[in-house]
Amino acid sequence: MTFADLGLSPELLKAVEDAGYTTPTAIQAQAIPTVLMMRDLIGIAQTGTGKTASFVLPMIDVMAAGRRRALMPRSLILEPTRELAAQVAENFEKYGKNHDLKMALLIGGVQMGDQLKALSDGVDVLIATPGRLMDLFERGKIMLNGCELLVIDEADRMLDMGFIPDIEFICSKLPETRQTMLFSATMPPPIEKLSKKFLNNPKRIEVNRAASTNADITAFKVPVKSRSKKDTLRWFLENDLVETAIIFANRKTTVRELNQSLNRFGFRSSEIHGDMDQSSRIKELDRFKAGEVNILVASDVAARGLDIKGVSHVFNFDTPWHPDDYVHRIGRTGRAGAKGRAFTFVSEEDAEAIANVEKLTGSAIKVFGKEDVRVDLSEVLAKAEAAKSAEVDEPEARSEARPETREERKPRRTREDRPEREEQPRKERAPREEAREERPRRERPERSERLAAERKPRRYHEDDEPVPPGEWNGPRPGFLDVGFG
Ligand code: AMP
Repeated sequence: MTFADLGLSPELLKAVEDAGYTTPTAIQAQAIPTVLMMRDLIGIAQTGTGKTASFVLPMIDVMAAGRRRALMPRSLILEPTRELAAQVAENFEKYGKNHDLKMALLIGGVQMGDQLKALSDGVDVLIATPGRLMDLFERGKIMLNGCELLVIDEADRMLDMGFIPDIEFICSKLPETRQTMLFSATMPPPIEKLSKKFLNNPKRIEVNRAASTNADITAFKVPVKSRSKKDTLRWFLENDLVETAIIFANRKTTVRELNQSLNRFGFRSSEIHGDMDQSSRIKELDRFKAGEVNILVASDVAARGLDIKGVSHVFNFDTPWHPDDYVHRIGRTGRAGAKGRAFTFVSEEDAEAIANVEKLTGSAIKVFGKEDVRVDLSEVLAKAEAAKSAEVDEPEARSEARPETREERKPRRTREDRPEREEQPRKERAPREEAREERPRRERPERSERLAAERKPRRYHEDDEPVPPGEWNGPRPGFLDVGFG
């Protein structure tokens, strides 16, 4: 199937081609003809499935006919967060570049002047968060009775954020004869109720149910003591071939503290959370997108639905309290066909939350290190090789330099054994950047293959199968021995 089969206009097909898309995604293939036929629609789809284009593309063609009027937007898209609203606006600009459509973005946290000016000039498409829209409506600055098309995006998130009464109010101010689309990753009862009340005989399209998550994401849970979470996180950041990562925490204070801690340890990280003003949030996001920092520590509200390409890793520093958030969080990686890895830290305090997540997804998340950790002896073998060369001069050195096997290894001193200490960057971390440049991480598998071939027979890691994409093949982390349960 191609986009041309879906009934879109030539101008739109050109914009889609320029965007580099050749094949519609499943939600696009089903939703676009439905919207073009002016039918109501319920789209059960998570972010990362191409759902934004599934409503933005046909909306552009639907809106192409008709005239705008001052203060009376012709269509309305409701988004739960400012970032999502801004992202949808970017989509409109990208796909609507060959059309004469005016769009306005109505979000909190930015000056109202420009927004009001755009409204008074007349807009075809208004993209808004419920709070700011209600505010302007109550002040009589906007009329909703010219709005023929409504999109309620991320409805389940709207529910979590307490926006349902606002949405009901807004719906009641729109003309009864209109086209309505509702998108949600899940359909909890209040959203079903909302759809029954405000949608007319909708076509229901379900794609990649939220509870089934994405096959391109390799997800693990990591049992860890609360006080070891930061150490464990740093271990993963250094050892799991992390290129770009989003780290989610449940509390804004944790987001701040974690970012500070990572900075102290020399990581290039920044933060985004709901206490920051809009311009700072956008600034930090842009830094992340531009690669100035490769780690973003985030709260759920701020990061919901963000389309940031190429995130190799998602870490749940805390297991999310709302199980739906688990799906949304890990959906930041493995996007548009790319492989991703997601790690959820589970301390005793997270036990109930992870049980809820597993109930929602319908399966137990694999425990990191229990089944899938493939241990690569490249490091110890390399040491052994170095020692072997040295041995030519000093034969006694041999026994000490022999590769350790799991059985031979001394038990690691766990963190619980160590005295409590202030978190201090370790001295040897300072030349981190140099060290990284000297030993590019991507070279490791090749080296391990070479060494593995040279050093047979092996005593510990006997597996000659190539490591499947997305599976671990690095050293066994010490914290696996200290997890609870
Ligand atoms: P969304 O689910 O709307 O957040 O979109 C996820 C990502 O997929 C975005 O980066 C889109 O630009 C991209 N995308 C949307 N439609 C397609 C398509 N048909 N082919 C390839 N990528 C797409």
